Amino acid sequence: MKRGDILQTDNWKSPIIKRLENMEELVWINPKKESANKPLEKMGISTKDIDDARIRLERFAPFIECCFPETKATQGIIESPLTAIPMMQKFINESDHCNLTGTLLLKQDNELAIAGSVKARGGIYEVLKHTEDLALFHGLLRKEDNYAKLASKECRHFFQQYTIQVGSTGNLGLSIGMVSVAIGYKVIIHMSSDAEQWKKDLLRKHGVVVVEYQSDYSVAVKNGRVQSDKDPKSYFIDDENSIDLFLGYAVAAKRLELQLKEQGLIVNEEHPLFVYIPCGVGGAPGGITFGLKDIFGENVHCFFVEPTKAPCMLLGMASGKHDEISVNDIGLDGQTLADGLAVGRASGFIGKVMEPILSGIFTVEDCKLFEYMRHLLNKEQIFLEPSACAAFEGVMRLSFYDEMSEYLANCKLEDKIGNATHIVWATGGSLVPDKNREEYINTYVGD
Ligand SMILES: *Cc1c(COP(=O)(O)O)cnc(C)c1O
Repeated sequence: MKRGDILQTDNWKSPIIKRLENMEELVWINPKKESANKPLEKMGISTKDIDDARIRLERFAPFIECCFPETKATQGIIESPLTAIPMMQKFINESDHCNLTGTLLLKQDNELAIAGSVKARGGIYEVLKHTEDLALFHGLLRKEDNYAKLASKECRHFFQQYTIQVGSTGNLGLSIGMVSVAIGYKVIIHMSSDAEQWKKDLLRKHGVVVVEYQSDYSVAVKNGRVQSDKDPKSYFIDDENSIDLFLGYAVAAKRLELQLKEQGLIVNEEHPLFVYIPCGVGGAPGGITFGLKDIFGENVHCFFVEPTKAPCMLLGMASGKHDEISVNDIGLDGQTLADGLAVGRASGFIGKVMEPILSGIFTVEDCKLFEYMRHLLNKEQIFLEPSACAAFEGVMRLSFYDEMSEYLANCKLEDKIGNATHIVWATGGSLVPDKNREEYINTYVGD
């Protein structure tokens, strides 16, 4: 579809789209959200599917523990801490227009083992699912076996005949690359121009083939898929459409429920839960949101945050065009310093699944990501990569936008917001090398 065609044939350009075109910071409240307790049933994915995924990860835990000693403490389960950040909350409340009552927590996916980012959830899960399918089919494994067996020479030799491929802006490639190499696969990662050099270097060090593209993420995915389809023994992980990836992300919710309980935090009608997650193509925040809605229903309110330079999910959902529209169609180049969020065209699958459940989407300017990063480091001594800091825009702007006040009023939350738990989903950062951290910390983006 050419830009001109869309502009001429439709009057789809609502005021919100014009504001996206102008790269304004804003919040969009999703008008299609349903208030029903369980809007999930009609989506064809169920609680049982998420439970299956969670149990599959438990079957693989002995293997993960065996290959990745850093997961010993959690017995091969890859999970991140849920951390109170009171000093950051105090700082937020000292800023203009901020009034953040209740409890502020950081979900530290930056600490996830193996990949150091949220991608450790979806990416690793899908590789393991594919591995189990192959191993069961070829009689290498029975479900009752101890999966540590997969680390044997014989199994590694078997998997060497197969290839895993994926298109990535960096972190997905990192998570899929690391686990696939551990299993024995040949791995080819198709990296978009946004991908950081250190991520490519790290993968190559582990024997992964990294194909570099001068173009954006969509092109890397498209070409990766074509290359993979030519080889019957190659499996392509499709970030834009994969149900398995989605289910891997969704498992986060059940574990979060437990962590909240352990910390004595209640989620119910009187104690709402607010969650803010950075969004690129949509898979990670979409899967997590789906899992959370499945558990907490109406009592959880999920918001995505996107860069003003690449608000692809907002554009797709607000226009109703989903993956049939790209940020290029409204004159944006999608070039953001938030490399993990540098996506011009959202997943259509995720956008449609989010329609009845997502509360809204914030957009944020690049320069603020670096500010949030420095504040968190100063106040709590926690380092996040810039993309991950996008989630702070939600809590910073909660009492700023009239649309948010209206949302709270419509949900009858005005007198309950003081009891709320707010979770900022910190999607990545622990693998960023010191040299790059220094660079990030000293980055000041002028306008
Ligand atoms: C990939 C990524 C996201 C967003 O996930 P999507 O599935 O692309 O929406 C957010 N933060 C970081 C650090 C990421 O790498």
